[in-house]
Amino acid sequence: MEIIQDKTNKKVNAYTCGDCGKNTVVKHRDQGVTPFFMRCVHCEGKAISHMYKVPQGLKHDLTVFSPANDKEWEMYRQYLKSYYKKRKVYNKKLLQDALAATKNHINAGGVIMVPADVIKI
Ligand SMILES: [Zn+2]
Repeated sequence: MEIIQDKTNKKVNAYTCGDCGKNTVVKHRDQGVTPFFMRCVHCEGKAISHMYKVPQGLKHDLTVFSPANDKEWEMYRQYLKSYYKKRKVYNKKLLQDALAATKNHINAGGVIMVPADVIKI
């Protein structure tokens, strides 16, 4: 049986939206598995991965990373808080639960995505 892994040394991937047709471009700072589908940054429609088969020089919308220290976790916490507040769903428990789930995800080798201006690479 063949084991299929989405492992690549390429850093830039794009997801094309089925609704608006635009691309959401992501760039890895850190290695890790990313989802095959994601929400389009332009319209929140469903966007599908190009499996890293895209020009590697594309300007990225999102940075893919794994927080390396307390400073980066704090930056992510602030980002998540403002994200929830913008959507008018913020409460302390939601934020705490989301951070706990994210820590489990990172500890299991996962990565997270934030807008490119939140972490510059
Ligand atoms: Zn879209």
